[in-house]
Amino acid sequence: MTAKKDTSPAEEIKTLRDQLNQWAHEYYVLDDPSVPDSEYDRAFQQLQALEEAHPDLVTANSPTKRVGGKPLEKFDEVKHQVPMLSLQTLTDEDQFSAFDSRIAKQLNRKSNNLSLFDSESVEIEYCCELKFDGLAISLLYENGQLVRAATRGDGEVGEDVTANAMTIRSIPLELLGKGWPRTLEVRGEVCVTKHEFEKLNKKRADADERPFANPRNLAAGSMRQLDSKLAAQRPLVFFCYGIGHIEGGRVSDRQRTRLSHLQDWGFRVAKEVKTAKGTAGCLAYFHDIGEKRDRLPYEIDGVVFKVNSIEFQDMLGFRAREPAWAVALKYPPSEEITVLNEVDWQVGRTGALTPVAKLEPVQVGGVTVSNATLHNIDEIRRLDIRVGDSVVIYRAGDVIPKVVRTVPERRPKDAGEINLPTECPVCGSEILRADDGVVARCTGGLICGAQQREAIKHFASRRAMDIDGLGDKLVDALVDQELIETVADLYRLKAEDVAGLERMGEKSAANLIEALEASKKTPLSRFLFALGILQIGEETAKALAEAFGELDSIRNAPLLLFLQVPDVGGEVAKAIAAFFAEEHNEKVIDGLLNAGVEPQSNGTPSRRFVDTLTLANFLSSAKTLGMPLSGVGTKTLETLGRHYRHLDALLKAVDKGEDDSGVKAGTLEKLAEGLKADDWRKTLKDAQAYADKLAKKAPAGGADERPLEGETWVLTGTLARLTRDQAQQHLEALGAKVSGSVSGKTARVVAGESAGSKLDKARSLDVDVIDEEEFIGFLAEHGIKLED
Ligand code: NAD
Repeated sequence: MTAKKDTSPAEEIKTLRDQLNQWAHEYYVLDDPSVPDSEYDRAFQQLQALEEAHPDLVTANSPTKRVGGKPLEKFDEVKHQVPMLSLQTLTDEDQFSAFDSRIAKQLNRKSNNLSLFDSESVEIEYCCELKFDGLAISLLYENGQLVRAATRGDGEVGEDVTANAMTIRSIPLELLGKGWPRTLEVRGEVCVTKHEFEKLNKKRADADERPFANPRNLAAGSMRQLDSKLAAQRPLVFFCYGIGHIEGGRVSDRQRTRLSHLQDWGFRVAKEVKTAKGTAGCLAYFHDIGEKRDRLPYEIDGVVFKVNSIEFQDMLGFRAREPAWAVALKYPPSEEITVLNEVDWQVGRTGALTPVAKLEPVQVGGVTVSNATLHNIDEIRRLDIRVGDSVVIYRAGDVIPKVVRTVPERRPKDAGEINLPTECPVCGSEILRADDGVVARCTGGLICGAQQREAIKHFASRRAMDIDGLGDKLVDALVDQELIETVADLYRLKAEDVAGLERMGEKSAANLIEALEASKKTPLSRFLFALGILQIGEETAKALAEAFGELDSIRNAPLLLFLQVPDVGGEVAKAIAAFFAEEHNEKVIDGLLNAGVEPQSNGTPSRRFVDTLTLANFLSSAKTLGMPLSGVGTKTLETLGRHYRHLDALLKAVDKGEDDSGVKAGTLEKLAEGLKADDWRKTLKDAQAYADKLAKKAPAGGADERPLEGETWVLTGTLARLTRDQAQQHLEALGAKVSGSVSGKTARVVAGESAGSKLDKARSLDVDVIDEEEFIGFLAEHGIKLED
């Protein structure tokens, strides 16, 4: 706290009051607190203790004597007929027991004449309620119609928020049922669910808007808007907890019954409300709700106990800022403040890097917290968090504690900036950030210790290498027993190593070795997919295999070539290039090949791909990747490409400064500049040389290697001689697209055993249908023979 030990009590009291007044202003007036409630409460209690010890220093305007904050001027003022007070807050159970005995004693004394409490054993009955953490409001009904809604304000005068209140569905505009007094003032709390709070904050973060500190702020900020359209868009709910002023009628003399009546009149009352007797009954309620607290859809910070009898309430009366007959018993705070000592970067199972805050240990929600998540580097930038900062930690239930904001006023001078590491802290591989900027990942997928298990499981999975019998549990066991570290080690496994594992007999061990053997001759596209390269799904793997035609060509290809593969953009191209540039990954691939894995491919690049490796495409891809070519548009690049055809010719023209292509004067100078920056001349030269090499290997143009190009086929029913996946692969190799549904555009349907609705549809649309035998014959005609 700001107050120092060597100052006088008067000075200390002043410092605390100033500080509390500032925080109260931020909290009540601006709806934007800078410190968590726990920090405010500590200072508040410190001030209370000092004032108790020095009664001569107490003043009427001390924060300990006041309720809330001043109403905002932009709203009309509302004077409350019955003041809206605060609640006495207790933080431990013994304090509650003392409160209960005090109430019993006072009632005993005050009711002497009535001899209500002549026996020690009489227990007070309380109405037990949830203490919602939202914004208190008062609703005034005249003849059953809502006429005014007001905030609590400073307890005496609040703000008129009728227009906003009318947008809340759980506030009846007209009372239901009967029996309500002519004038009825209902009090309660406007809240939002935790879920809606998270959702809205996420939206705000995405839109680069400042998030709300907590659900209470969101509720308060929404209610205190001049534009009621904004309030209407917010998911606000009103829970009522009591009655204020009444005229022209009577209400029950029990708090619990009053709540039931309010419910009948159309209000929402927390279903957890109940009555309990004495300390034991109330504490049992406190524990019960505490148990459920994290599962409740709304944020509560405690429970409220109110003497159930209104007659007793009247006897007990009020104190400066709170009623004497009610008390809030709070749960340990879910927000606390502490210091961020450093940031650790953890690598997840899929290579994603997550920053973890290392904190000065602090009690939050009843446990000691020394680590909290910071999500990602963008979140760190957005919250402007530095090492050394005082940060607010939120923790509820089993949820991982998170850093929600900093307290900039407490930033030390030497606070250090937090940066994303350039190398993986586990394996040293390069870190790549996707263009959307959010997730940073390690590129050492095959060797990174953090990703080891996930990488092997993916490699073995059905859509990848399809290694029968190698499920997740077996992968875990093999890694645990240190029998494998990378996927290459799989092919060095011996049956006897595997047979020793739990739940693995000799037979299953032999089967596994057999399945590994069978997986060696897998199509190149599956092999590429199995490597788990960032961003590479099955479709991209197929496109890569089809374009380059062999693994070696892919491994050595320069970045600009990947960009020419259909559907591969800058981000994906960078991920592929980064993967193969990682020496460790290359080692594992060599290991796989040496162990006999032989990805199947046709060995030559596709003509269509080679035809796209044009000078114009290289130039525009270079521009996409950041070659400085401002003022030179795609059209100009195309003209240059078409004219010079080969990079050598273009470079010659650039070096000589003589252009005969007809593009705007000065273009070649701009190109010359661009080529100088960041080695772009070399990058383009490498790409051109590689393209020249591939062109020599590619089949001559015109050969009909994809006779089904442009056709869509549908597979249905059960095929006996090949799986659906295999049938699809063959069709795709011939250029067809395989779709899951039949339409008028379907070229052909292959109907296996027990084909159903798709076959019917094909017939009704007059689409050509062939059976399995005809299909196999068709494949054979196109040079595809099935193994027996
Ligand atoms: P309070 O919020 O602790 O308690 C009184 C309020 O509880 C009532 O006005 C009402 O709105 C609400 N309430 C919820 N359920 C209720 C129920 N069933 N019955 C009756 N009332 C119920 O008191 P307060 O004076 O409004 O504010 C004090 C709180 O505000 C403290 O928790 C304090 O930490 C926080 N605060 C924080 C900061 C900060 O900077 N972080 C500043 C000021 C105040």
